[in-house]
Amino acid sequence: MRAWKLHHFIGLAMLLGAGIGLPLNLAGQAGAVDPELVRGVAHVGEELGGLFLSLLKMVVVPLIITSLVTGVTGLGDPRRLGRLGARTFAYYGLTSALAIVVGLVAVNVIRPGVGIELAALSRDASLPAAVADPETSVWAILWRQLRGMIPTNPVHATAEGDMLPVIFFALLFGLFISLTGGEHGERMRAFFASAFAVMMRMTTFIIALAPFGVFGFMLFAAAGSGLDAFAALALYMLTVGVGLAFHALVTLPVLLAAVGRRSPLAFAKAMGPALLTAFSTASSNATLPLTMSCVEERAGISNQVSSFVLPLGATVNMDGTALYEVAAVLFIAQAYGMDLTVAQQLIVALTALLASVGAAGIPHAGTVMMVVVLNAVGLPAEAVGLILAVDRVLDMGRTAVNVWSDATAAAVVARFE
Ligand code: ASP
Repeated sequence: MRAWKLHHFIGLAMLLGAGIGLPLNLAGQAGAVDPELVRGVAHVGEELGGLFLSLLKMVVVPLIITSLVTGVTGLGDPRRLGRLGARTFAYYGLTSALAIVVGLVAVNVIRPGVGIELAALSRDASLPAAVADPETSVWAILWRQLRGMIPTNPVHATAEGDMLPVIFFALLFGLFISLTGGEHGERMRAFFASAFAVMMRMTTFIIALAPFGVFGFMLFAAAGSGLDAFAALALYMLTVGVGLAFHALVTLPVLLAAVGRRSPLAFAKAMGPALLTAFSTASSNATLPLTMSCVEERAGISNQVSSFVLPLGATVNMDGTALYEVAAVLFIAQAYGMDLTVAQQLIVALTALLASVGAAGIPHAGTVMMVVVLNAVGLPAEAVGLILAVDRVLDMGRTAVNVWSDATAAAVVARFE
């Protein structure tokens, strides 16, 4: 009952934030309200949301570590970890590929960039910092990530919140607790199980504050967006939106029902708080505590599965981002009047997949990574500027899809455990 209420409160907070922010934005543009005031309100929203985000980020690392160690020691037979890993990666690869196909079809059918007036698009000069100095080869980025998975200093990785090395170390630590066994192994196992229980309690407490954070972020997004850019990019936004909707409402639910043997509707309801938070914060990483708590406590999936599948998914499995990269790059190519061959589109698809794996679960990470995809087919990095104006809204949508896919993964993998 309590969880249901939270679900409703978050939805209400979203509506309130948008309901106050949008009219204010419009009034500001019409000159009825001082634009300074609108910016001020957007800023207050961002700060309020930021407080909630800080709380979530505070628990992410200790939650991942205690949860993973507890999950791995609970697996019993270490070989089960290998099976779990193989299934998880198979699922991640499959759904990302499906998402990319959806993106390719959508952008080739709707053709949002064909005949568009490039001059009509505002070129945002404020590119994210990382765009200015991009790593140009996707392989270089992936290799760096793979290498970086082994932390030369686990404390440093923990302090920096570097997800993959933290996951790697926690997995090994859990594994070797099991292998050590005996009195020492048992003491460590019990310690981490208790720490995990405490972290979960703390997370539940923070999650109760979600409506305030979500309200703040919606206010920020609605009041702070340059709505005039929306008209010029409407068809592009529609393309990404249709693609994301298809993946979230058709592809993933079919997998959930056919392979995971779960009612998609009931599962989506259980995941409600996490999906709404992902949408408003545009960060898979920050949403992770909610994703874990919803998957375990509301959907009843075991900690052994969720502790492995979800942190990994938040970092490497981004269906929404992959779909978006494909749609955005092909849109830009169309807008530049470039007719990409099938082979070139395949290069975009493959690079987009790798870029989605490389993107971090933070706002706009996918857009920064897009430079790599643009580069692969000879488009200029500055082209990112064409679509930045509407990126926040699309980021919200793709992040919700990213988290939905991670949760679906947990349900599908859990069925085989
Ligand atoms: N914001 C997305 C996420 O956190 C990543 C992206 O920018 O596509 O999942």
